[in-house]
Amino acid sequence: MIYRMYGLLLLSTGFAVAMLYRAIQTQKIDRSAYWIAASCCCGGAGLVALSTTSNVLHWIGIILFVATPSLLHVAIGSATRQSTRRTLPWMAGIATVCFLWTVILNIMFPDWILRRAPAILSIPFMQAGNIWFLLRHKDSPTRLANIAMALFLFLHIVVFALRSDDILMDASHERWLTYAGMTIVVGLGGSFLGMEALRSRHEMERLAMTDPLTGLLNRRALEVVAHRELQRCIRLDKSCSALMMDIDRFKEINDAMGHAAGDAALRAVAEVLQSMLRPTDAVITRHGGDEFFVLLPEYGEDNAEWIANQIRQGVAECRLLAVDDTPFRIQVSIGVTTCSKHDMTVQDLLHASDILLYREKQISRSQEAAMLLKDQRAEGGAHVHPSNA
Ligand code: GH3
Ligand code: MG
Repeated sequence: MIYRMYGLLLLSTGFAVAMLYRAIQTQKIDRSAYWIAASCCCGGAGLVALSTTSNVLHWIGIILFVATPSLLHVAIGSATRQSTRRTLPWMAGIATVCFLWTVILNIMFPDWILRRAPAILSIPFMQAGNIWFLLRHKDSPTRLANIAMALFLFLHIVVFALRSDDILMDASHERWLTYAGMTIVVGLGGSFLGMEALRSRHEMERLAMTDPLTGLLNRRALEVVAHRELQRCIRLDKSCSALMMDIDRFKEINDAMGHAAGDAALRAVAEVLQSMLRPTDAVITRHGGDEFFVLLPEYGEDNAEWIANQIRQGVAECRLLAVDDTPFRIQVSIGVTTCSKHDMTVQDLLHASDILLYREKQISRSQEAAMLLKDQRAEGGAHVHPSNA
């Protein structure tokens, strides 16, 4: 009776969780909900079958019950976005070997009390594998729900161990152990929902902080991340530098080559920045339009100037193509500043580097103008005095 109740609870919880999971899902492409439903149905149907007196149904129950941790494994993999390509064959292998072993023992020693032991033992063993699978990535966005599920799986192992006498010898169950089992079922379902809720939140935060064109952090993220990094540098008495950069004559690129070419140029600058600076070493952001702001924690003045030159050079070397395959190049101006006072804020760094950027632009504009004038004079001179050529 208890088994049947337990099985029906598992079945209904499975369906309820799968439906709720799909309702809160942000990325409808994943199949986690189906796998959750499948694992709960498998376990539930297994328990219902085990509760019958029919010998055939009893064996079907054992198969379903032994297969449940493997299905749960796939559901966990899908919900936590981990590949089960390597681990699933192990799970399925253990389940198959244990089941076959149980069959052999039942044929050879039909009256032996431990004849069902391999099948029973496989369950805690595989659940231990699932716990490891849940906890192995410390930086998972669903970490809290993973820990919760691991705890419920651990409780499952404990309850299983305490009930092994009952299961093996068909003794009467302790009521509180059954309640613990029900708690596990509901807890596992809740953990799955928690996983999806945490991932949805993480995804929304990521979208809110990322520039969709370049994949870099956006201005909103800058305020949070850069502030934290700057405070860390100040606390540790380390220097911190900042670069403000802007693509030169970007409007002309847009006008002459089209908006798509402008977008390609923005992506190229982002790629140069990402190739030169690791995300752990710098906070790279698209500040808006054709402006990029980079915070360089623990970079002194010389290092920051050096990296700025590398970026100028890297961007100048990019060979870009417009939609009609016309090649074009771009150039960036960069204002470099280093935190000089302990009470400096990110806004101060932004302001100071922006002023230096503007100055660099003015200098390069006046140099360009001087060069143009020189060229014009040279051309004009050649025209006036052709005999001098
Ligand atoms: P300067 O050398 O002084 O920087 O001149 P500029 O032409 O680059 O002028 P400015 O930096 O003000 O140009 C910004 C332009 O960037 C204006 C806007 O049309 C364009 N822009 C802003 N966002 C995007 C975008 O996402 N894609 C494209 N293709 N263009 C953008
Ligand atoms: Mg510009």
